[in-house]
Amino acid sequence: MIVMNKIQKVLIANRGEIALRILRACKELGIKTVAVYSTADKDLKHVRLADEAVCIGPHPSADSYLNIPALIAAAEVTHADAIHPGYGFLSESADFAQRVEECGFIFIGPRAQNIRVMGDKVAAIEAMQKSGVPCVPGSDGALGENPIQNLEIARNIGLPIIIKASGGGGGRGMQVVENESDLSGSIELAKSEGLSFFGNPEVYMEKFLTTPRHVEIQILADEHGNAVHLGERDCSMQRRHQKVVEEAPAPGISPELRNKIGSICTKACQAISYRGAGTFEFLFENDEFYFIEMNTRVQVEHPVTEMITGIDIVREQILIADGQKLSFTQDDVTIKGFSIECRINAEDPNNFMPSPGKITQYHVAGGLGVRVDSHVYNGYTVPPHYDSMIGKLITFSDTRLGAIVKMKNALDEMVIDGIKTNIPLQRRIMEDKVFQKGGMNIHYLEKMLGESH
Ligand code: ADP
Repeated sequence: MIVMNKIQKVLIANRGEIALRILRACKELGIKTVAVYSTADKDLKHVRLADEAVCIGPHPSADSYLNIPALIAAAEVTHADAIHPGYGFLSESADFAQRVEECGFIFIGPRAQNIRVMGDKVAAIEAMQKSGVPCVPGSDGALGENPIQNLEIARNIGLPIIIKASGGGGGRGMQVVENESDLSGSIELAKSEGLSFFGNPEVYMEKFLTTPRHVEIQILADEHGNAVHLGERDCSMQRRHQKVVEEAPAPGISPELRNKIGSICTKACQAISYRGAGTFEFLFENDEFYFIEMNTRVQVEHPVTEMITGIDIVREQILIADGQKLSFTQDDVTIKGFSIECRINAEDPNNFMPSPGKITQYHVAGGLGVRVDSHVYNGYTVPPHYDSMIGKLITFSDTRLGAIVKMKNALDEMVIDGIKTNIPLQRRIMEDKVFQKGGMNIHYLEKMLGESH
């Protein structure tokens, strides 16, 4: 039985499957829950299951899930002690983390200062380089105005290069440059995208890796200076920089390589006094890791790591925020088996257009090694206002192929009528010979779909 020090009631500042995931972790810890919801979300499953629920505004996210005063007020009136931001929305807002703590609540996540540094890619890379994390060869900080100097930097790195907005996210504000003559124009474009999407015109330059995989390391760190890594995930199956399938462990990563990069990440956490769960994202090419960014929150794909380590990441986030010491060391973390996650989206599997609407029939997959993290149910209406992801199907087996076979069967068992979903696409991926072999690079899915240029 775990005794909480400070946290007795958590306000869940999110919606959908992650809100339900957080609610489940709180319930297991004996913590009371407060759901907040927009007017479009009163029928969400976790709203019904929470101890209390507060409507925080109309459906536009800016008026509800991104509305800091409304969230703080909801925490005040319900006497919550802590706020869990989930992923997306305000989860990586340093200002939100700061306001939460200034108002006397616990933010279930890193210190605002850490979030701020990691949200600025130039600052993040600088901090990581200082801590010994391998980064992509690139410009030394932000690019200046001098085109001759910028050309020289590009020549030193070697084309192709990629210009990235320091404030960028979600695949926006990036320009690949293959010819020297395109350099100035691409810098200007990345700057203006950075300014219009993220309010920050600062850009930097990196070597463009042509066939990397996306491999990321999950870490947990407490406020007493202890940090562990939970191994890696492979999230190379992406379309338009959006992950579609994730797996753990990553094919072809030896225990030695895992421990080497994992301990670099835990040392970096200690160097910056990081607290909470976090993910170091790397591009992986020719057996080398290149840091691209750190996510300072729980990730959509966290379940695959939970399946192979047996560690409940959301529960650990809450315990860390409660001020507790990690109850295990690196030596206690063992990786066993293989796990795959398919994101289930309410979208047309052919043209990827969102497909909101009422679910008229819902039958869920099950069986040994099958996990479904989803908030939807029979008769639930998927609102058109939010992300199209309606859940995640996760399988676990003692072999990778076993996890794929389980996933195929689970996808066949799932019945979601009334809306279109990407289940047919996920079936195609599970049957794809290259995917079955494993170790594809980040361009493979688009190639498989005939979308690569
Ligand atoms: P964002 O914050 O927008 O997600 P990232 O820095 O994580 O930006 O990069 C997103 C994606 O862009 C990566 O997963 C990868 O597909 C591609 N990318 C980023 N940097 C490089 C690089 N140096 N070389 C090749 N591809 C890159």
